[in-house]
Amino acid sequence: MIHRDRMRDHFLTLVRIDSLSRKERDVAMHLKDELIRLGAEVTFDQADRMVGGTVGNLIARIPGTRPGVAPFLLCAHMDTVGPGEGITPHVEQDIITSDGSTILGADDKSGIAIICEVLRVIQEEAIPHGEIEVVFTICEETGLQGARHLDVSHLHARTGLVLDSSNPDHLITRAPCANRLQFTVRGLEAHAGVCPEKGINAIRIASEAIAGMRLGRLDEETTANIGIIEGGNAINIIPNALTVQGEARSHDEAKLNAQTEHMIRCFEEAAARHALTLDGVAQRAQVTCQVQRDYDRLFVSEEASIVQLVREAVRALGREITLWRTGGASDANILCAKGLEVANLGTGQQEVHTVREYLRLSEMVRSAELVLETLKRHAGRG
Ligand SMILES: [Zn+2]
Repeated sequence: MIHRDRMRDHFLTLVRIDSLSRKERDVAMHLKDELIRLGAEVTFDQADRMVGGTVGNLIARIPGTRPGVAPFLLCAHMDTVGPGEGITPHVEQDIITSDGSTILGADDKSGIAIICEVLRVIQEEAIPHGEIEVVFTICEETGLQGARHLDVSHLHARTGLVLDSSNPDHLITRAPCANRLQFTVRGLEAHAGVCPEKGINAIRIASEAIAGMRLGRLDEETTANIGIIEGGNAINIIPNALTVQGEARSHDEAKLNAQTEHMIRCFEEAAARHALTLDGVAQRAQVTCQVQRDYDRLFVSEEASIVQLVREAVRALGREITLWRTGGASDANILCAKGLEVANLGTGQQEVHTVREYLRLSEMVRSAELVLETLKRHAGRG
């Protein structure tokens, strides 16, 4: 049986240990001790070297007690967004909040607390299980970097659950792929008062490009955004350079490509409208576009064994679950792209990445019950 108060207390301990991205060492050391007490062998990889962090991804293995059961992965991330130092959690009945000056860190320490509680119950009740692999990643919040640098060829499990979303009655099986775009616009510098006809205004070009661009929610599975603009030196200089950064996301690869090309075309067409001749030499605006794949999509089919397994567990608990599609990415995207079959289960975390973040304890318990039942069913399959 899941012990609500024990899990809550562990969660409160975890959020009191600061762990901003790249600074996960303290919480990682706490978790290492905890997992060793739970019978795990704990190692760290060297992902910290790639990201300039204080500790690598934590990888823990609890040997199986029932032979012939395939290894199963449980994953959550150790880092938090800011403001996330000196978190003072407040418990009021079923709800845990911060004091309003920081985030709470339920994203994703609720996932970690759930995994640890499930392992505790398995140990104290001697529930038969296969090998359980636990991965607590670093730097999820800085672009899924920890998972990206995780060498999954060293993992034994090929299927499992990521615990890093809100609703414990939703199983996220689909999340978008995304491109990161950077545009550099080059115009022509000139004194804005003396000879504006000798200038090509890079800000104007970018404005025209963005004004003609499809942005926001484009359809039920595609979104796009321009998020950063930098450029210009003085109000009396026609600006000659500007950078603009944005992103596009879609659950459909073809739609993502189409939107990416559309955004590039908007810049190219805007630049093409701006040219002049200076001392007999043709001058034109220029745009360079850098497109970087941010992450691949999460796509788990309804027939996948992880989905069937969770459904069995849900039925055994007398509940229902909805397969869910999200617009955000998680470590599950990366693990899926690396060939693992993982879905993302909710933990009760809400309003994440804000100082209003909160956790609903009853939902955290629901999530833990489902993870425990899933492991039991998995072991039962043999
Ligand atoms: Zn998260």
